[in-house]
Amino acid sequence: MFDAIIIGSGAGGAPIAYTLAKQNKTVLIIEKGPLIRPQKGKELSQFKRDELISDGSEKILNLNVANKGQPFYNSHVEPDINDEPHIYKSGNNTDLATIEGYTAQCVGGGTNLYGGVSLRFTPTDFSLQSFNAGRVLQNDPNGDVVRESRDWPFGYNTLLPYYEKTEELIGLNGTADNQLKPWGADKYLKPLNANPISTYAFDGMVKLGQKLNAADPAKPYRTPLAVITEDHAPSGRKVPANPEAIKTSYVNRYGDPMGYKSSTWVSLLAPIENLPNLSIKPNCVVTHLGSQNGRVNKVFYLNPDGTPKEAEGKIIVVACSAIESIRLLKISALLNPDFDQRIHQNNLLGKYFLTHAFGGASGLIPGRVDKSIALDSDWATDCCNNDQFLQDNSLWAGATIYNNTSDSALPLSLFRTKDAMDLDMLWKGLQYSMDLKGNKLIEFLDKNFGRRLSISYMANQVPQFSNRIDLHPTIKDKWNRPVAYIDKGWHTHDIALMDNIAEKCGEVLQLAGMTEIGFGSSYGAENGLIRIANHVLGGARFGNNENDSVLDPNCRAWHFDNLYVTDGSFMPTSGSGNPTHTIEANSFRVADHLLTVV
Ligand SMILES: Cc1cc2nc3c(=O)[nH]c(=O)nc-3n(C[C@H](O)[C@H](O)[C@H](O)COP(=O)(O)OP(=O)(O)OC[C@H]3O[C@@H](n4cnc5c(N)ncnc54)[C@H](O)[C@@H]3O)c2cc1C
Repeated sequence: MFDAIIIGSGAGGAPIAYTLAKQNKTVLIIEKGPLIRPQKGKELSQFKRDELISDGSEKILNLNVANKGQPFYNSHVEPDINDEPHIYKSGNNTDLATIEGYTAQCVGGGTNLYGGVSLRFTPTDFSLQSFNAGRVLQNDPNGDVVRESRDWPFGYNTLLPYYEKTEELIGLNGTADNQLKPWGADKYLKPLNANPISTYAFDGMVKLGQKLNAADPAKPYRTPLAVITEDHAPSGRKVPANPEAIKTSYVNRYGDPMGYKSSTWVSLLAPIENLPNLSIKPNCVVTHLGSQNGRVNKVFYLNPDGTPKEAEGKIIVVACSAIESIRLLKISALLNPDFDQRIHQNNLLGKYFLTHAFGGASGLIPGRVDKSIALDSDWATDCCNNDQFLQDNSLWAGATIYNNTSDSALPLSLFRTKDAMDLDMLWKGLQYSMDLKGNKLIEFLDKNFGRRLSISYMANQVPQFSNRIDLHPTIKDKWNRPVAYIDKGWHTHDIALMDNIAEKCGEVLQLAGMTEIGFGSSYGAENGLIRIANHVLGGARFGNNENDSVLDPNCRAWHFDNLYVTDGSFMPTSGSGNPTHTIEANSFRVADHLLTVV
């Protein structure tokens, strides 16, 4: 029997495996996807450098859903939609299949392909219930937001040492100065030089900060990124003699063939892969969990060749990313009355599913620069992420604004993402713009190539009971297990907040002297109900009250002795920035707790 079995090796799973294995506990990691190694010495990288975009030919959706017959692409790190779709309820109550809500299936999970934007949440993000008590908010006629807000079971200061630990062990670069969060030790690596196009973002952010609060303006800071820029002792990774050479635009959506991007594989697991007490099983999918008297006594999984296997652990950690973890728990409940009765005791599993409210603006700079020599983002600001701003605007929670430096860096990526709504709809702009040829094509390239700069925002989404993950009643995956069924909408306050912040993003560009500025938010997209930003959160929220949460403050499922859930599903609110840093910090926190029980 292992001391711990960890299901999923991404942001929620790897920090626990790392901590326990380093303390000589026996650890088994079961991971659905392959282990893809970056270049090392003379061994070539196994990444294909096009991980999320497409792998092979176009396919046709053949499921019994309203978008049956649509073409799609998939890669070798995400499931084929026909095999394992996510199904969501569209506005007119029809079911649509999508790839939204998957991160990446490989050792390291979503951290292999992420942009690496690694923001801490603010102290207010941890206490939105207390902050909003008694407030009257715009576009919240029934008081839903105030009623449904939840404080986390601990405050910012509890997570502070774990934020520092993550910054150090994962390997983040950035600057603490100007971030409106309390800081202890500065563990960041030094940021690289910003790309010249980001000067516009910087100027606009400075001016917006002054406009919003002339007496005490929020100033921009270098966006913290999970990319090493100096030799990184904890993982043994080294940077080239000229670290600026790291900037190759491989960041968002690409696996990094050189291993500079700090995935949980290169940062945490590769350095300990040879420990005799650690065993990693890639290409093995966990199908369900067994339990008896509140103890998960068996983990059932399939070997790479499909042979059924089982394993036993004193502690079981589920970290499959929120939607897939909830699906795994619900499938286990279908098969086992003991599991069902315990996990569904308060009917909250799957409820209060969250993503981020997100969107932004884009415009044109006067000149042209080479955007390909860049990382994902250069500048961020908390000017819409402080209590004064929330009071002034009658909003419940804040947003971080940051610029996207490396998007659309090459003509190819300009086309690939033109009019794209969804990861499986890439190339749509070309498919449906048959007139984009001759002079029109030249004009499009001349106007956009090296001239377009975009700004994004990431904001808390209002928790709603009706936003949920269930099992689909009829559609099954290739192993004959029910697939995830997503029912998700936006609250009227979400829309007010998104409109407000998207406009601020437009102002950043306008104040910087840019032209042809457009702004908007995810809710306005063609598939706006399912837009997830790859941020899959909530649905198994933690809390102090067992009647109001699925997990206790240590992420243990109430009514189970040894079942923990540590991917993004534990979050009761989704935070004012990209979530991975907080998922990792929380996992390091839970790991310290687990050391006291195994
Ligand atoms: C293109 C892209 C860009 C992103 N950019 C950013 C960013 O800039 N900043 C940021 O903070 N976040 C970003 N994200 C999101 C980030 O990847 C996720 O927040 C993070 O990885 C979530 O951690 P997790 O532990 O919940 O899940 P993951 O890290 O995805 O890990 C889940 C793992 O579980 C495995 N798994 C699933 N089901 C099973 C099963 N049944 N059996 C065994 N294993 C299973 C999966 O294969 C996967 O490896 C991005 C994601 C993508 C895809």
